[in-house]
Amino acid sequence: MPVSRRDFVGGIAAALGYLGVASEVDVFAQNRPAGQGAAPRPRSTMDEYDSLAKLASNENNYGPPESVMKAMNNAWKYSNRYGYPDGNIVQEIAKHHGVKPENILLTAGSGEVLDVVGTAFLPAGKKVLGVEPSYGSVYQHATSIKSTAIKLPLGKDYRQDIPALIKAANSHASELGFVYLCNPNNPTGIIVTKQEVKQLLDGIPKDMPVLIDEAYHHFVDDPNYATSVPYVLEGRPVIIARTFSKIAALAGMRLGYAVASTELVQRMRPFSMGSINALVKHGGAASLKDTASQAEVKKRTIDLRKKTAAELEAHGYRTIPSETNFFMVHLGGRQVQPVIEEFREKKVLVGRPFPPMTDHMRVSVGTADEMARFVTAFKEIFPAKGKVSTAGL
Ligand code: PLP
Repeated sequence: MPVSRRDFVGGIAAALGYLGVASEVDVFAQNRPAGQGAAPRPRSTMDEYDSLAKLASNENNYGPPESVMKAMNNAWKYSNRYGYPDGNIVQEIAKHHGVKPENILLTAGSGEVLDVVGTAFLPAGKKVLGVEPSYGSVYQHATSIKSTAIKLPLGKDYRQDIPALIKAANSHASELGFVYLCNPNNPTGIIVTKQEVKQLLDGIPKDMPVLIDEAYHHFVDDPNYATSVPYVLEGRPVIIARTFSKIAALAGMRLGYAVASTELVQRMRPFSMGSINALVKHGGAASLKDTASQAEVKKRTIDLRKKTAAELEAHGYRTIPSETNFFMVHLGGRQVQPVIEEFREKKVLVGRPFPPMTDHMRVSVGTADEMARFVTAFKEIFPAKGKVSTAGL
């Protein structure tokens, strides 16, 4: 019997009702709280949440495709088991990358990879080196384990400054536990080219681990970009973090993984929870096979990103050219936090502040309807100015 998305959602809703789970959700859930003891984030009810245009967390707003829903639905029967067939998820991921299963560490989202790398490679006050702004989770985790980060500013045109990273990696070599490179970078959406990645790996101490976060790999079109997985096969100390939360639309189900040498995986494994649910193991395996759906999501996302950026530029506001399912817009001199609140009042969720780029706002690319709601809200909040273009960036 074909499984519809409605049947699947109904199943979850029924299960939640049965368990008596409160119908409140965290609408700002992309990043961890600011630290222990942080105030609880604002919450909304399910109805309120469903009514929002969710453009704040770089999710895939189309939801998982039918093939993935079917695989997950078929796995409900393992809810009460430990040693159930798991869809060979680790083997499938290894096959997908042409590596061995020993090169894969399966995690609850790639956020767990970032934490595990921090815990494993920042002993005794060692530091992480990276740029700012980037995906702050790595730096926040370092703080939570009483370590620190060396954060370099972005270079020209908001690009990650590779020569500066190389220089810092060498001059601080004895203090560092690893280097963090988010490629493409969140929140700018800009890639580090394959030539630059090589330049970085060749320029830093040979044994320095580099965590390369490829959460948005699947959205990149630029031929100057390439995954860094081949460096694992070359025997370099790189750890690639991947997620099923973005192109595969499984953020709420929590699945990610690291690809690294057997030795590095062994160093990380003791710190991982090893706690992945039965449904998403089957959903993840199905997702790897459904390349047609992923290509469709990529195409729709890029088309809508370009269309939205063109509309904002016609209205007089510059955007940063992105290779991902989000982009940044310059707010014409305004600061982002009050603007986020204004969008929230119009039932549109947009990205949080990314210091020091607080005069920009990060916007995720959602469905056509959500992007239309975003553009309408933008035009209500921001007065029209002369047309601008991003040419030259
Ligand atoms: N890395 C980057 C760059 C991200 O933007 C995110 C989430 O937005 C993550 C990692 C963590 O995502 P997840 O834990 O859902 O895989």
